[in-house]
Amino acid sequence: MNKQIEIWYLYHSGFAVKIGQKLLIFDYYSNKAANSLPCLYNGVFNPEDFRDLDIFIFVSHIHHDHFNPIIFTWMEQNPNIHIIISSDVEGYRANANLTIAETEMSYVIDDIIIETLTSTDEGIAFLVKTEGVSLFHAGDLHWWHWDGEKETINKQMEYQFKTQIQKLENQHIDIAFLVADPRQEDFALLGLEWFLKKISCSHVFPMHFSDNYSIMERIDKISSSNQRSFIMHLISRRGQHFLF
Ligand SMILES: [Zn+2]
Repeated sequence: MNKQIEIWYLYHSGFAVKIGQKLLIFDYYSNKAANSLPCLYNGVFNPEDFRDLDIFIFVSHIHHDHFNPIIFTWMEQNPNIHIIISSDVEGYRANANLTIAETEMSYVIDDIIIETLTSTDEGIAFLVKTEGVSLFHAGDLHWWHWDGEKETINKQMEYQFKTQIQKLENQHIDIAFLVADPRQEDFALLGLEWFLKKISCSHVFPMHFSDNYSIMERIDKISSSNQRSFIMHLISRRGQHFLF
């Protein structure tokens, strides 16, 4: 990867990624800015901005914390906006710039290659390759182990998660967005740690922690003791901007 990348943390699992003339937006959810100015630096997308870029909006599934139907109004206002949406999402009008994505399929849009994995919760995860950069956004594909859950269910979850992640082996991922959900308490980092053990990646962003940034301390600890070399980007506020 020898491209300059800009990333904004929007909220929860939402990120905007600028690569060359493209802006990729994943799991856009909260459209309420951190303060009155609507822009990526405050965690929201303003459709009046970036009119000169090709914009691709990815939706991993319909859950309210991963999807905001406002994206469809943007697509109708701006012909440079393309939406790639998991097939479980409903409530949109047909549009030439809308791609409906199924699990474990491949799609090519302009010079973007998109592969999907099956989520362990609902919908899909995205592997996106463009401009020589490969990005993985997990959606809700995660090792959802819960304290108090039946052992058979936790085991089944582990199996499904590992089976999906195995499909990413034998390739390098430049930027990975991975679930780290503090509600899982002691088990919150199982999935992240497994991913980092199995998959070679350069830049990692935790997600799915809503307003609970306290998990960053734990993530920092596991990252510094990990054998592989990657950069873990810790997040401390909405709209946080990363450049590398
Ligand atoms: Zn979720």
